[in-house]
Amino acid sequence: MLMEDARERIVVFGKRIATEGLAVGTSGNLSEYDPVTGLMAISPSGLGYFETTPQDVVVLRLDGSIVEGSRRPSSEAPLHAEVYRRRPAARAVVHTHSPYATTLAALGEPIRAVHFTIADSGAEEVPLSPYVTFGTPELAASVGTTFGEHPHVNAVLMENHGLIACGPSMDVAFGLAVNLEFVSRIQWQAECVGTPRVLSGEEVTGVSKRFETYGQPAGRKA
Ligand code: 13P
Ligand code: ZN
Repeated sequence: MLMEDARERIVVFGKRIATEGLAVGTSGNLSEYDPVTGLMAISPSGLGYFETTPQDVVVLRLDGSIVEGSRRPSSEAPLHAEVYRRRPAARAVVHTHSPYATTLAALGEPIRAVHFTIADSGAEEVPLSPYVTFGTPELAASVGTTFGEHPHVNAVLMENHGLIACGPSMDVAFGLAVNLEFVSRIQWQAECVGTPRVLSGEEVTGVSKRFETYGQPAGRKA
């Protein structure tokens, strides 16, 4: 079976999408990409996260041609492929309908620097991409344009839809989706009772610098 490790991670992190409340039902999807083979492994379309096994994960090329798997791939496979084209360092993509990020997407607001951890996204704001029907090449093209217009950011909010985040590993892409849900929640809560203070670009840059030496040194995790 091709991309076995990636398939396993897609199953494990898919269950986390469900248990951590990042999407309801079968919504949301996730993938990994191997630039050496040019292959992407993606969750199957419309299959519950707790019903999905590694065999259900579909392996395909970025042009959409299926290489291995009997399931129909996620309807957002063209969107994931477009993110890998726009972000050559990305190895994983996570798409969620998490409630607070989606609230901002319904309000037509980007995710702003209302909390310093926005710096995780690589930028001072997560941009909003205009509404387009889910699972269409038009949505992929439109979100791709938004990634292109914001060259440093690793996530985009899709209007009246949800969030798409990428990273150098599944762990990092998933962590970014979780963190942006937190920032979205703070933004929405703060807007409910007042006007949140938004950090300046300089303040966010200061956070990115500080993140460089945050946590344990490499190889000293345990
Ligand atoms: P799939 O079940 O086809 O992955 O679609 C879910 C979704 O979130 C569409 O945007
Ligand atoms: Zn969706």
